[in-house]
Amino acid sequence: MSSNRTYSMIKPHAVADNHVGGILKMIEEGGFRIVALKKLQMTASQAGEFYNVHAERPFYGELCEMMSEGPIVAMILEKENAVLDFRTLIGSTDPAEAAEGTVRKAYAKSKSENAVHGSDSDENAAIESSFFFSGIERF
Ligand code: GDP
Repeated sequence: MSSNRTYSMIKPHAVADNHVGGILKMIEEGGFRIVALKKLQMTASQAGEFYNVHAERPFYGELCEMMSEGPIVAMILEKENAVLDFRTLIGSTDPAEAAEGTVRKAYAKSKSENAVHGSDSDENAAIESSFFFSGIERF
């Protein structure tokens, strides 16, 4: 049975460019309910821990630097089939390949600065949500 929650964050460049409201509007209009939400800044070491799965990839250092260069907006989202439906809403990793109407098509600047994160499995959604939020922060 698939879980109905996913984890997302608005990346530093999109927060700095004042796109939080626009992205949250797309998320809510896409049928997602916000279960938890906060703004925070990760250290490079926390970003490294979060993206540990990519530690061997050539862009790992750049990714950790980009994700810790300014505040992010972290959130847990709820919808039936949340993980897959959210991946559809945000679009391809590379904005050049992202479909019209997706968050990345609208707000990504590059394959690296691609506006939002979305969990890729129910298991990772649970792990990533717990990295940022305690039980009393979820409603
Ligand atoms: P996602 O699941 O669509 O976010 O993509 P991945 O899990 O493959 O990659 C995680 C994040 O690493 C992406 O969202 C990008 O911010 C970054 N990333 C992915 N591919 C590249 C790349 O080729 N170069 C750089 N600089 N960053 C990348």
